[in-house]
Amino acid sequence: MPERNWAGNVRYAAARRHRPTGLDELRRLVAGSDRIRAVGTGHSFNRLGDTAGDLVSLAGLPQTVEVDRERATVTVAAAMRYGDLATRLHAAGFALPTMASLPHISVAGAVATATHGSGDGIGNLATAVSALELVTADGELLTVRRDADGDRFAGMVVALGALGVVTRLTLDVVPAFEVRQYVRLGLPRAALDEAFASAYSVSLFTDWRGGADPRGAAGRIDQVWRKQLADAPPPPADWLGTTAATGPVHPVPGMPARNCTAQLGEPGPWHERLPHFRLGFTPSSGDELQSEYHLPRAAATGALAALDPLADRIAAVLQICELRTVAADELWLSPQYGRDSLAVHFTWIGDGDAVAPVLAEVERALAPFAPRPHWGKVFTLDPAAVAAAYPRFADFAALAGELDPAGKFRTDLLDRYLPR
Ligand SMILES: Cc1cc2nc3c(=O)[nH]c(=O)nc-3n(C[C@H](O)[C@H](O)[C@H](O)COP(=O)(O)OP(=O)(O)OC[C@H]3O[C@@H](n4cnc5c(N)ncnc54)[C@H](O)[C@@H]3O)c2cc1C
Repeated sequence: MPERNWAGNVRYAAARRHRPTGLDELRRLVAGSDRIRAVGTGHSFNRLGDTAGDLVSLAGLPQTVEVDRERATVTVAAAMRYGDLATRLHAAGFALPTMASLPHISVAGAVATATHGSGDGIGNLATAVSALELVTADGELLTVRRDADGDRFAGMVVALGALGVVTRLTLDVVPAFEVRQYVRLGLPRAALDEAFASAYSVSLFTDWRGGADPRGAAGRIDQVWRKQLADAPPPPADWLGTTAATGPVHPVPGMPARNCTAQLGEPGPWHERLPHFRLGFTPSSGDELQSEYHLPRAAATGALAALDPLADRIAAVLQICELRTVAADELWLSPQYGRDSLAVHFTWIGDGDAVAPVLAEVERALAPFAPRPHWGKVFTLDPAAVAAAYPRFADFAALAGELDPAGKFRTDLLDRYLPR
């Protein structure tokens, strides 16, 4: 079990660490603990997964994958990594509709924080969940289903680990499909909507270098990662004023492209194209912090314009900024609840002290757009503002109080953002 999170900026404070090998052992552990949190693969950048009590990894439980061909679902062990699940699913002729930029993360950990990929018509990873099995505070095993538990189910999927330890999840799957990935350079910001709408999954990268002039370099998107269904026509040579990358690239300047999924239009299976990074290689840059804000899709132009005056400040502590789109959903704590969203992501340098003042300025600039932070990344937004941005926040707080009356799944970060 890791001592620290992937980025190394969080040292888990747990007094005890556990790796049960069976469900009954896990149930006894949860029932007997005063304070307990589950850890997935530790890829979150904040203390959401931390506890001073018991930290439990589910990686020792049987890593089962059960495909139900008739229902088009897969039921999977909580600690399974998306990359491992994807390989098994693909071999069975199925796919997930979307993946995050990296396949290294666990299914339960990613769903708990509403991890997402990109696509105008694609929801976050949690929207694929149709059933959940979890060990609740009293050690009981609870199963909730989308078709049977309705609104309450919608409150239990993106749960930040606050309702119990998830042991298995059932996900919707689709027939396996092929994708071609093209990288284009130099997109004018005015063409942002057209670029996002142009393919199945599109990510834009910018380094904010070039000053605050929105017509200058900061107004230009450096890279467009266009992941299109393999039978869609390739982008024409003069597509939206961009040029084609002539070789594979990494989104972070100076990092090796071999860590990235295949580009240049080479067709390949969905799970080897939808993530940006390859399993078995370091994703992103490694020495970094990340923050991300989800804004109403319609506010994209205004939100980017609000960041323009900070371009030089951002650029000074930034490795890369990624813009993605995510479709609206109905999961109470999903940052996309009730609104199609633009996700503005920052891969910062690893120096938290240097990043903090810039982060505060970014949050101030985005405040008029009701930003919802990525639950697994670094943010300092005012708790009242976060609560106000979620119409079902009070309902979730009530659900957490009902399922965990003694607060054994609580963390300091939860106490700050979800007061009892
Ligand atoms: C390089 C890099 C790239 C990333 N790219 C993306 C991206 O493309 N899109 C995106 O949205 N995010 C991205 N992230 C963020 C990441 O996907 C989330 O932080 C995700 O939650 C990490 O999953 P994990 O398995 O590491 O969970 P952890 O960080 O270990 O845990 C996350 C939360 O889930 C809870 N949890 C874990 N397992 C369980 C369980 N069994 N039951 C109940 N609660 C549980 C934990 O208590 C914690 O609160 C990236 C992170 C990194 C480091």
